[in-house]
Amino acid sequence: MEKFTLMLKKLKKLSLLLLLFPCVLLAEIPVKNTPIPGGIAVIDFETNHSNPKAFYNKVPLYLQHIKDQHWQALVGIPLLTKPGKKTITIQDFSTRTFNFEVKKHTYTEQHITLKGKNKKYVNPNLAHMDRINKERPILSNARKLFSDSSLSNGLFTRPVDGITTSPFGLKRFYNGQARRPHTGLDYAGDIGVAIKAPADGKVILAGEFFFNGNAVFLDHGQGLISVYIHMNERLVKQGQYLKQGDAIGTIGQTGRATGPHLHWGIYLNQTVVSPNLLLGTSNEI
Ligand SMILES: [Zn+2]
Repeated sequence: MEKFTLMLKKLKKLSLLLLLFPCVLLAEIPVKNTPIPGGIAVIDFETNHSNPKAFYNKVPLYLQHIKDQHWQALVGIPLLTKPGKKTITIQDFSTRTFNFEVKKHTYTEQHITLKGKNKKYVNPNLAHMDRINKERPILSNARKLFSDSSLSNGLFTRPVDGITTSPFGLKRFYNGQARRPHTGLDYAGDIGVAIKAPADGKVILAGEFFFNGNAVFLDHGQGLISVYIHMNERLVKQGQYLKQGDAIGTIGQTGRATGPHLHWGIYLNQTVVSPNLLLGTSNEI
């Protein structure tokens, strides 16, 4: 009985500590400062506040508590950002601003020819447009989700072992028409190869879409979201919590895909960033 009371006391102490310092629940991802379009700016700041907030272009940012008063804001920089001075806002006991410099980075170009049935993805017909327009807000809402606490800890692991066929940020042209730059990393692989969660997270979207085919979106907390596209099978359901290494689905060729591969994308403050930065292999942007 005495032991039990002691344990209860300890538990009370622990919950009091967690109440006083909720920041201890925030886990750290060691991201290298990469202030380029498609990169992540790591901005260090100090505060005594237990729950500061930060914003870039009014979008909430991912914050991590390093030690004592030392905090970091991770800022995803849109691929089409012009180099130059940018500003984030930090809210703690007051509101202040921090400046950082976005540097120039040149991504390579790729020209793709789509033939036969794949042509529908270049100039979709009216029925397809109807479907695309219905799916757009579902996908965009999932990318905009911001949950308050971190769900993952440490660097990510690769979702599959295959070789990279299209790097992140590639400037793409379909049948000569310029398209958005490549918003993820493509890994080649055989149909049916397992795709594994690169970090703990929650399934916030799992479905079949016109361009994305079979897709799954994972929330890792504070606007850090990873997406898995063109899958053959989905093995998870919306609302499910996953541990790093859990199977999400299998490699496929669904939606707008010219061959079996996994398109892996990472969103941070509603912005696509290079997945290599989360893997700690930032030299391969
Ligand atoms: Zn891709």
